[in-house]
Amino acid sequence: MTGSHPSRARSPGRRGNHRGGGRSGGGRSGRPGRSGGRSSGRDDADDGLAAALQESPDDDSKAIPIAECAFGEYELKPELVQALASCGYRTPSEIQARTLPFALEGRDIIGQAKTGTGKTAAFLVPLLQNLSDRPGPRVVVVVPTRELSVQVAKEAQRLGRFLGVRATAIYGGDSMKRQLAELNAGLKVIAATPGRLLDHVGRGTISLRDLDGVVLDEADRMFDLGFREDMARILGAAQGRRQTMLFSATLGDDVLGLAARYMSDPARVFLAPDKLTVESVHQTCFPIDKERKLLLLIELLRREKPERSIIFTRTKHGADRLAENLQKAGWGANEIHSGLPQKKRERILLGFREGEFPFLVATDVAARGLDIDDVTHVINFDVPENAEDYVHRVGRTARMGKQGRAATFVTPDDGIFLTAIEKLINKEVPIEIFEDFVHVVVDPSAPAEEKKPTGPQYRRTMHGFVRARRKR
Ligand code: AMP
Repeated sequence: MTGSHPSRARSPGRRGNHRGGGRSGGGRSGRPGRSGGRSSGRDDADDGLAAALQESPDDDSKAIPIAECAFGEYELKPELVQALASCGYRTPSEIQARTLPFALEGRDIIGQAKTGTGKTAAFLVPLLQNLSDRPGPRVVVVVPTRELSVQVAKEAQRLGRFLGVRATAIYGGDSMKRQLAELNAGLKVIAATPGRLLDHVGRGTISLRDLDGVVLDEADRMFDLGFREDMARILGAAQGRRQTMLFSATLGDDVLGLAARYMSDPARVFLAPDKLTVESVHQTCFPIDKERKLLLLIELLRREKPERSIIFTRTKHGADRLAENLQKAGWGANEIHSGLPQKKRERILLGFREGEFPFLVATDVAARGLDIDDVTHVINFDVPENAEDYVHRVGRTARMGKQGRAATFVTPDDGIFLTAIEKLINKEVPIEIFEDFVHVVVDPSAPAEEKKPTGPQYRRTMHGFVRARRKR
């Protein structure tokens, strides 16, 4: 996909290009209109990332000898073991080891495991093993974001390649022409966002009848109000399916209740549901007033020099503004959110993956599932309002046993959200303060004359941060 790489700001060293990295994806001119949501059928991304990923799924740099691949013990097809070995998967991760025996038997599965622990292969391996040779797509994985559909399709393509199984991503904003061509070429696995999938079902270009399997990845998100109706339509249309699987790092009782309607005697594989974030991510929060968040961010970047960081904001506008501000201050940042044209989203994500710039400023469109190598820092510039989103955001770092750092900026108004997060993850997020940087919390034991003269003071309480009463 040569034509659509970001053309500017390619750093000689690729990694560690903290400062001076330019914008990627065509600068700020011609601000794009909204292209998210239900597919409009626009063919504006013929050279989309999905197509590029289909062309080169075989990165064998991590390959191990087949004899060293412990997946062989599951009596999988040799071609599947060969593919797992070529991905460098030496032993099954815990969620894989716990899921495989049930899933290989064809049982429905509800799987919960921390982010970045191999859930994708946990559902793809059994589905590929038991794939029938009936015509048409056999497996549909439904995901909440376009980027995730591309990633899952790529993993299916890698794992299915020696079986001759092809996979593709089906998502809005991408070329209908490409998708129809792929569908006609006999692919077996589809990773799709709901809107475009239903478009195809409505046109008769995808049939969901009698599938081998349906997976809802990031299942709790798929049952959110925004998607719930689509899910009912998809699962209703997929009536004759053999197997249904549902995975996420966060699965609440409400989701489990809804899911029960669509599953038959599912095996529940729950790994540490009370400890949702991985231990290898060092989490702290910084109390700060709204006005100084940008200064704090720059201070954090200056001190810690993150090699590769995702900085989350709550709104698209906030992401645009923050990326622009970082750029102005000389930091290599670009934004991604659902308001950008699909091509630009793909270019920016690819640029970030390839190390062309170190800071991705993102809304929660990048919070779920994305597997990007070596993200060292997740910075919640804005605290997520939804506690589950915190778990997923933080899960972009410290994947598969690596180390990571998560810093969350908490303004006095955000205390309530922090409390909800701490309740969900079942642990307190320690407060961190940079010495010699002006934070809103001051040491109450300091002599009066040394206290900062300006700025209100805040106290942490059970309900968050409250403004401390002034002594009279
Ligand atoms: P996932 O949680 O599915 O996004 O996977 C997280 C990362 O772990 C991806 O980069 C996978 O390629 C990798 N992965 C998945 N299964 C294994 C395994 N058994 N051994 C090593 N790496 C794996």
